Amino acid sequence: MNILLLGSGGREHALAWKLAQSPRCDTLWAAPGNPGIAQHAACVALDAADHAAVLAFCEEKVIGLVVIGPEAPLVDGLADSLRAEGFAVFGPSRAAAQLEGSKGFTKDLCARAGIPTGGYERVASEVDALAALERFGAPVVIKADGLAAGKGVTVALTLEEARAAVREIFGGRFGEAGAEAVIEEFLEGEEASFFALTDGSTILPFASAQDHKRVGDGDTGPNTGGMGAYSPARVLTPELEGEAMTRIIAPTVRTLANEGSPYSGVLFLGLMLTAKGPQLIEYNCRFGDPECQAMLMRLESDLVELLHACAENRLAAIEPPRFSDDFALTVVMAAKGYPDTPEKGGAIGGVAEAEAGSEAEAVKVFHAGTAQKDGALVANGGRVLAVTARGPSASAAQARAYAAVDAIAFPSGFCRRDIGWREVAREKA
Ligand code: ATP
Repeated sequence: MNILLLGSGGREHALAWKLAQSPRCDTLWAAPGNPGIAQHAACVALDAADHAAVLAFCEEKVIGLVVIGPEAPLVDGLADSLRAEGFAVFGPSRAAAQLEGSKGFTKDLCARAGIPTGGYERVASEVDALAALERFGAPVVIKADGLAAGKGVTVALTLEEARAAVREIFGGRFGEAGAEAVIEEFLEGEEASFFALTDGSTILPFASAQDHKRVGDGDTGPNTGGMGAYSPARVLTPELEGEAMTRIIAPTVRTLANEGSPYSGVLFLGLMLTAKGPQLIEYNCRFGDPECQAMLMRLESDLVELLHACAENRLAAIEPPRFSDDFALTVVMAAKGYPDTPEKGGAIGGVAEAEAGSEAEAVKVFHAGTAQKDGALVANGGRVLAVTARGPSASAAQARAYAAVDAIAFPSGFCRRDIGWREVAREKA
């Protein structure tokens, strides 16, 4: 089967690496891809926003499965355009992708389905938002309704901070994504992510992970797209996973199906593990980046079979995903200046050495924002590499990942030195 993978980040490099390993995969195409993805796929310059061009490509290359990596094309309805022409697509429809595309939509769905999440109010003007803040008091969370690349959320410890966030949203900082906002109850606890595959009726648990959003060691500094992750997140015990499945995922899938927009693809839950049990912070409609890199490092099942069965509503007929008992840990190497003004063009060396220096297959260096310039690898984005290692414990995976990081020469880059700290501390306790 010929497969088209859309995207160009570290997540898509990991997907390409795993898809290409499947005996079911004939030609793997990637659009636009990156130099790492090009090791496994033929990269083409296709714009995911141009649905007609994507369709024409799928027809010409006889594509049997389209895998959509990032959220923007999903929220934009690319899966609908492809399905309308009979193509099998991994990823939700525009209507179901509203779970990520509109925070207000998700909160309303939680309210209808009785899903545990923080109290909230949807507001469509600065005046209403400021009035809502008075009712909530501090601490409080303010969220632009639409997609804002991780920058649309403020956890405000004081009402002054909260008012500033409201003014920013309604002042137009996020454009259309900030036409509405959600004011939300502050939840306290440890965060963890959980992923499940669903075709709209069957739900297969995938894996858990924990990411590190802040740019600096000790979870300090501004939020980023994610500076590292590890899987599994053992803080999410089998009991808590079961609770998330029955109290959050199952009612979500059932409600969307009953309301005429069944969800097909991967559901990514951001959870707060509170004293009252797991509460939903957010849904994303695609794999997390960099959680995906860590999870796929542990995946033993055939990824093509899983994603294709999901796309064809056949999840009930296949074996659930199998994972190794190992931990996997991803350290993101970013360009200096990230997340605000990352330096472009910095030279990168030693990637092959970093992979070769470890035990067989124990380290993979996934490319995120890289480019080839005059035959050499250079930085071409904020997050540049996702160095991923496996090991029998989080500590072992962490030690291997940082040994690989240290083998890479990227003078204009930096990384956090404490990825996995919570789990490593638990192992030492
Ligand atoms: P964007 O939509 O801008 O891409 P996002 O999807 O990353 O943002 P969330 O995951 O909803 O936004 O929130 C980002 C972070 O803010 C969370 O990872 C969490 O740390 C914190 N947060 C969100 N909601 C709450 C809450 N109700 N209580 C406490 N912290 C929260």
